[in-house]
Amino acid sequence: MTSSFHPPQRTLMGPGPSDVNPRILEAMSRPTIGHLDPLFVQMMDEMKGLLQYAFQTKNELTIPVSAPGSAGMETCFVNLVEAGDTVIVCQNGVFGGRMKENVERCGATAVMVEDEWGQACDPAKLEAALKAHPEATTVAFVHAETSTGATTDVKAMCDLAHAHDCLTIVDAVTSLGGTELRVDDWGIDAIYSGTQKCLSCTPGLSPVSFSQASVERIQNRKTKVQSWFLDLNLVMGYWGKGAKRAYHHTAPINALYALHESLVLLQDEGLENAWARHAKHHNALKAGLEALGLTFVVPEADRLPQLNAVTIPDGVDDAQVRGMLLNDYNLEIGAGLGVMAGKVWRIGLMGYACRKDNVLKCVSALGEVLGRVGANVDAQKAMAATLASYGE
Ligand SMILES: *Cc1c(COP(=O)(O)O)cnc(C)c1O
Repeated sequence: MTSSFHPPQRTLMGPGPSDVNPRILEAMSRPTIGHLDPLFVQMMDEMKGLLQYAFQTKNELTIPVSAPGSAGMETCFVNLVEAGDTVIVCQNGVFGGRMKENVERCGATAVMVEDEWGQACDPAKLEAALKAHPEATTVAFVHAETSTGATTDVKAMCDLAHAHDCLTIVDAVTSLGGTELRVDDWGIDAIYSGTQKCLSCTPGLSPVSFSQASVERIQNRKTKVQSWFLDLNLVMGYWGKGAKRAYHHTAPINALYALHESLVLLQDEGLENAWARHAKHHNALKAGLEALGLTFVVPEADRLPQLNAVTIPDGVDDAQVRGMLLNDYNLEIGAGLGVMAGKVWRIGLMGYACRKDNVLKCVSALGEVLGRVGANVDAQKAMAATLASYGE
């Protein structure tokens, strides 16, 4: 007989999922009610307000898509892009490549603007592409590239896109709740995120938000959105203002309790405080990792606090070290993705996982394990550097 599954208690310091706050897990176990129950509808309305706060937007169409971040990505592309369109995609890592896939699957042309992995997207290159492609309707890029830990200047990119009459699609899966993000001030037309990164919620939902200009484009499409499930014209009837709340799909009720709780936690902490907390613990982790002799992939000015990509020392076996951290310390850190596979570790400091005890645990565990596999490290010096960053 198969018995119940009891996972161990890990410390999740990879690229997501991150540690889930116990308050969120508790919220998830509350009684399931009907998704058209007036009390559930009331909770959804509150959630919209909480999401608007998290995104710093007044956009009416601000909702969680009932599927993971990748579905939020797809929601943006299938609704805003039609066959024959031209979309400029700025790529500096794995997720920009997925945007290209999305554009092409919409029957549109993706004009790729490439930057080195580990660098921010370069607004000057975007400007050149906009000039070369006056037919472009949309610009898409990733705010926080989780494959490398690089951030991009969203406002500069959006200003250029708008100067050339393009709408903007921005991936904020890893940035929401972790680093400064201002949807309205920065001029983002369509944005998607995820629950399992800096919101520290369970995976499986994708908060999205659409500007008025986006909504108008969606309402004036020449063709139907090819995805029935992700067609916002239909979803708006379920989530929209004054919507009939007609049945579209069964909302993932308990998962939405979890997201609601995580957004209440964010509201209680305060967005700016959450951003400052990520920066503070990143600085301490950085001090420790650098004292271990590890070097960051991304130049300091463009580094994300919540995703620390560092180069694996020569002669050290990537999988062996990650295995020892997992088995001996219950600590998960991330492997490299794409061209960085085997070359870097990605150490996440996301949401609830972004805490002093985790930073200390990570630096001490990594120091011990690196010493055990024969790397030339001074684990004590690394701990001292980490503590010094905290003023101790
Ligand atoms: C994690 C991530 C995604 C995909 O989210 P899923 O929830 O795994 O589908 C998309 N973009 C970026 C930048 C991410 O970090």
